[in-house]
Amino acid sequence: MAFALGSPTAPHSVADTDRDDVDVWAPPELRAVCLDIDDTLIDFTATGKRTLATLTGRADIWDEWERVTDEHVARVVAGELDYADMHARRSHAFLRGLGMDVDLADAAVFETRRKALLNRSWRLFDDVVPCLEWLAAAGVQLAAVTNASGAHQRDKLAALGLARFFDHVAIAGELGVAKPDPAMFQSVCLQLGCDPREAVHLGDKLTTDAIGARDAGLTGIWLHRDPDGAAGSGAEVSADTDDAVRGAAPADVPVLTTLAALPELLVSEFVRVGVPAPR
Ligand SMILES: [Mg+2]
Repeated sequence: MAFALGSPTAPHSVADTDRDDVDVWAPPELRAVCLDIDDTLIDFTATGKRTLATLTGRADIWDEWERVTDEHVARVVAGELDYADMHARRSHAFLRGLGMDVDLADAAVFETRRKALLNRSWRLFDDVVPCLEWLAAAGVQLAAVTNASGAHQRDKLAALGLARFFDHVAIAGELGVAKPDPAMFQSVCLQLGCDPREAVHLGDKLTTDAIGARDAGLTGIWLHRDPDGAAGSGAEVSADTDDAVRGAAPADVPVLTTLAALPELLVSEFVRVGVPAPR
C-alpha cells in the first residue's frame, strides 16, 4: 500500500549526529501511539444525539449543542470556568438558546439526567479492542489524548474496559492546552519519553487531530469513519472509492476508515513494530 506519510523515508536531521553511524534513510522507530477518544474509540456523537433527542424531544439540535460545548470547553481550557461549573452552565446556555425559561438549578437537573442516560449508553466501535490488543502486543506505549474538559474521560475509559491499555491519558481541561496546539502533542511525547518523530496520533478530526499532530512533528492520521457505520473491510480510503475524502487531507496525512487498518499502516511505515499485522 502507498501511504503518503510526511517523511517516512526522508533523511532525519543529522546536524548533531555522526553520518558514518546513522542510516539517514531508515524509517523512524515507533515508540508511542496516541489516540483521540470521542468518535475515535467511543461512538460519542451517535450516543450524544440519541440522549439529547430523548431528553428534549428534538432531533435537530446536535449542531447547536456542539457549538455551545466548544465555546464552554474553550473557557475551561482558558481558565475562565471551573470544570465543575462548566457542564451546568453549558446546559443552561443551550436550553436558553432553545427558548426555554430555565435557571441554573434547572439546567443542573437536566445535566444530571443527561449524564445518567449517557453513562448507560456509551458503546465502543467494534474495531477498538482488537486494535488496542495489537498495539499492546506490539510493545508501543499508548496514550489517550482528548480535548474534553475533565476527568470524566478517565471514568468513561474505565467503564468501557479500556483503562488497562493506556500508559497515559492527556485531558485538555486539566492541561490548559488543547489540540491542535502543538504543545498538547509535545507534552504527551515528553510524558512518554519519546521524540515526536517516534509517535503517531490518530483521531476523527482532520485539523484538530491529524494536521495538529503532524504540525507538532508526529505522524498524524485521520480516521474518517463511514458515517453510516459501514466502514468495510478496512483499508485506507482509496482514490477510487472516495476521492473527496482523500482529497480533503494533505498528502502527508494518511486517511483510514477503520482502526483495523492501523496495524498494517504502522508495520509498513515504521521499524521495530514488534508483531506482524493481523490477517
Ligand atoms: Mg474525536
